[in-house]
Amino acid sequence: MVVVDPSFEIDEKGRVICQSHSNYPNLIKPNKTYLEELQLETLLTCKSCSHYVNDDCYFPKSEIDKIEIDRLSRSRFQCNLCGNKIDRMLTIMQKIYFEVKFNMKMPLLCCSCYQNIKNDKFPEYLRRRIRESLLFYTPSVFLLINPYPFNLIVAFVYALSAFLLKIIIKQKFHYSLFLVDLLNGRKFYKKYFKNKKSVDLS
Ligand SMILES: [Zn+2]
Repeated sequence: MVVVDPSFEIDEKGRVICQSHSNYPNLIKPNKTYLEELQLETLLTCKSCSHYVNDDCYFPKSEIDKIEIDRLSRSRFQCNLCGNKIDRMLTIMQKIYFEVKFNMKMPLLCCSCYQNIKNDKFPEYLRRRIRESLLFYTPSVFLLINPYPFNLIVAFVYALSAFLLKIIIKQKFHYSLFLVDLLNGRKFYKKYFKNKKSVDLS
């Protein structure tokens, strides 16, 4: 059986597209309407490709299914810069493909981080995300400044609720408000992206 190798490209919006995808001409169609753009999001997956259906892709069908389960249920595939869970399956397939085929470690970036790096606005973007993360704890800090002992309990309960809320937001909306994710992302950015003129992910 002839196996089809995937081949990846990144469009102007930072979306990874597979050139071997059976629906490729449709995926790269220019001047899409708003509805077509929305539909594209649902097509950017191996599951809409005939090579997945016929099981003649470089990645066996069972492997693709396993990766998809991991993407949906675990934090394994998250943006190296902001901690957001990666929504698009093809972004993950590209990373895995480069690792297994060429032994190349690739960063995993969400589209927002990709766009901000491309436009040279990542430091501002990360600062905004860090502010958002810290805002969740502001009421606790005010409660701690206040001298009444009861406030300590309220502050603790509040901080715990904020933490639980962050877990729900990350799992359900794939958006990370965890300071640790963002600080790790800042380190990653300084190490691999700072002072680099462009992002070369191809
Ligand atoms: Zn990101």
